[in-house]
Amino acid sequence: MRASQLLLPTVKEDPAGAEAISHKLMVRAGLVRQLAAGVYVYLPAGWRVLQKIAAIIREEMDAIGGQEMLMPVINPAEIWQQSGRWDAIGGELFRLKDRKGADMALAMTHEEVVTWLAAREVHSHKQLPQLWYHIQTKERDEARPKSGVLRTREFIMKDSYSLDVSEEALQESYARHITAYECIYARCGVEAMMVEGDSGMMGGSVSHEYMAHADAGEDEIVFCRECGYAANVDTALAGADREPPVSEVQAAAGAGSVVDLLADEVKPTPGAKTIAAVAGFFGLPARAFMKALVVTVEGDEASAGDGGAGASAERQVMVLLRGDHELSELKLRKALGAEFRLATADEVFAAQGIAPGYVGPAPTTLPVYADEVLRRGHYVAGANQAGHHRTGVTLAMVPQATLCDLRQARAGDPCPQCAGDLEGARVIEVGNIFQLGTKYSEPMGAMFLDEAGKEQPIVMGSYGIGLARIAAAAIEQHHDDNGIVWPPSIAPFDVHLVLVRASDEVQAALAEQLYAELAAAGLDVLFDDRDMSPGIKFKDADLLGCPAQVVVGKRAPEGVAELKDRASGERRDVPVAELAAALRELLGRG
Ligand code: ATP
Ligand code: MG
Repeated sequence: MRASQLLLPTVKEDPAGAEAISHKLMVRAGLVRQLAAGVYVYLPAGWRVLQKIAAIIREEMDAIGGQEMLMPVINPAEIWQQSGRWDAIGGELFRLKDRKGADMALAMTHEEVVTWLAAREVHSHKQLPQLWYHIQTKERDEARPKSGVLRTREFIMKDSYSLDVSEEALQESYARHITAYECIYARCGVEAMMVEGDSGMMGGSVSHEYMAHADAGEDEIVFCRECGYAANVDTALAGADREPPVSEVQAAAGAGSVVDLLADEVKPTPGAKTIAAVAGFFGLPARAFMKALVVTVEGDEASAGDGGAGASAERQVMVLLRGDHELSELKLRKALGAEFRLATADEVFAAQGIAPGYVGPAPTTLPVYADEVLRRGHYVAGANQAGHHRTGVTLAMVPQATLCDLRQARAGDPCPQCAGDLEGARVIEVGNIFQLGTKYSEPMGAMFLDEAGKEQPIVMGSYGIGLARIAAAAIEQHHDDNGIVWPPSIAPFDVHLVLVRASDEVQAALAEQLYAELAAAGLDVLFDDRDMSPGIKFKDADLLGCPAQVVVGKRAPEGVAELKDRASGERRDVPVAELAAALRELLGRG
């Protein structure tokens, strides 16, 4: 490809409002342009990256027995009604009517089409297992499209679906996907960790997410280098605390502390409504405090019972955490078995007789859920009296408290699996795998006859990978101040051939010769033949980030070009006869 003819509109300025480095660099390097919120055009170089990712995915899916096909984006509403998702999904599903007034949906994923197809074409256990996949556009009216191509309203996904005779057979299909996914991310040069998904936590079916570390990531995980444990901060099991409670340390050290944590006393704390403020006031660390949150539980069974017939009745519950811990909303939702929200100031007042800021568990008539760590120690908590806190508070004063794991895990916590140190990372989800079981096959009637001639629902799995997220994650993980540093396997081109002076006949002739020879050697070459200043060309080459740069300049008369390794920045002069071999080595294709 000649740069003089290629649509590669590089720009100096970051796009307005962009925060993610991958967003900035993809726009600046001329890979993408935004047409509307969360809707992107892939320019030629950007599309080449997606194609290379697709090729790798295809090879690995084929290697585990996948059969590639293509399912339509436009779907009749019926199949979404049969699965129950027409009603279960809100604004994220694009809906439209055809000219006859029939309801249609734009597929956000393809379980419905797969199950519809299986219901018609799979009849016998002899046809199973099946593994179907496609690489197709998905449409989702995301509430907050953001971070360039990381969260868009239209994107390309590889989604595969396993069809099996039993739960055990599903486990095998699932395990094969784990192998394929590991290969896909490794080959794309993206480091991704497999973490257990929410659904397992919520008592639903098993799922795992693949998380790639990225500063622009929306999720936070903790992981352990010792044993490989990795989990979302909201789902990670809290390990035992390493340090004893402040009250025990204080008691062991003897007198001399300003505040006696063991003494049950009410102390004035004027104006100090937050943990930080009271901690400052008492000169104690945040972990010496017990914080009390009042939440409103939304219409669960327990509250519906209390209120008689009203299924949407709400009730208040107190949640206790140590002062330095954050609530895992997911864990609390699981403990409550219902959705909840923070109570409003009025609700707190009505439930506890005091405004937020001085709420404490001693005493309270509310149901209480307390984080396990509070089992041990004496703490400072709100005194249920304006401008006052109470010392010496223990869970023994709160007999109704249910103890459970409620806090987010964080870096520095002991690993729940091996007691190593957890590290924290921001991540983006680049893929996930789900054991669907018969969630779709039962309502949609996808049945088969087993060996005994008995009708059974097909046991399914579904497995997704976002292509753009792999591209963006690769950039998040591999870049420097000058631009992108592509993993060679997914770079738009293998070689960026830079002709320093287009007006120099010797240089131009050698560059043309190399362009032809390297392409003949099977390399993807971008030839910057533009009549522009060398400085601009070098900047563009670094920004675009192809793994190898070949510079034809001063030493052209001797038949020597300069070879630059984009990743290390290392340069050396190489006689043109040796260039193809040197490039193969640099690209790791020796
Ligand atoms: P998220 O939690 O990030 O919204 P999801 O759980 O909705 O993702 P799935 O429906 O399982 O994702 O889709 C599978 C894969 O498709 C994801 O792992 C991700 O790589 C990609 N993906 C999902 N939503 C988007 C999006 N809006 N833009 C780009 N890629 C996406
Ligand atoms: Mg989503």
